[in-house]
Amino acid sequence: DRFDPCELNKLLEDVMVLVQKDLQMHRIGVDETIEPGVWAKVNSSQIQQILINLIVNARQAMKEGGRLKLVIRDNPSEGWAEISVGDSGCGIPNDKLQKIFDPFFTTKKADARGQGGTGIGLSLCRRIIEAHKGRIRVESEVGKGTMFTLKLPRAESPA
Ligand code: ADP
Ligand code: MG
Repeated sequence: DRFDPCELNKLLEDVMVLVQKDLQMHRIGVDETIEPGVWAKVNSSQIQQILINLIVNARQAMKEGGRLKLVIRDNPSEGWAEISVGDSGCGIPNDKLQKIFDPFFTTKKADARGQGGTGIGLSLCRRIIEAHKGRIRVESEVGKGTMFTLKLPRAESPA
């Protein structure tokens, strides 16, 4: 797998093109706080896949619509390029926060069409982030929302 310098706002733009229609259909607005010129050393298609997973999870947590929050932030003192995906959804209770990255852990019950969660998304996210020598963090408050942050190894912007 290849790890190349990638400007995170460009990577996120490509993801938003893919998910925009789905968010509109579910009455979800987007708030962006994006620093330009933040570069990370990544496999860009893997990180895009993670962001899609996080955004779909966020949308599913906002059953009545809500706000999706996207943040890109440079953290040179700790060596990270950071990207966060937040929602104003149901939140995650403390006793489940430890489990959400476990393979096959899901709280999404199968519906009449047999479509529930697989519990694979976040475990895959964690594996991919580990391969990048990065970190994935989650903060959540029940009834308020959830925010996932990816901390990725910084790359200097190419001249
Ligand atoms: P799945 O989406 O198939 O259930 P994931 O691995 O993507 O599997 O997520 C595991 C579980 O983590 C979900 O079932 C849900 O309980 C919880 N979760 C993940 N993201 C969020 C979120 N943004 N808000 C609330 N709960 C979440
Ligand atoms: Mg999921």
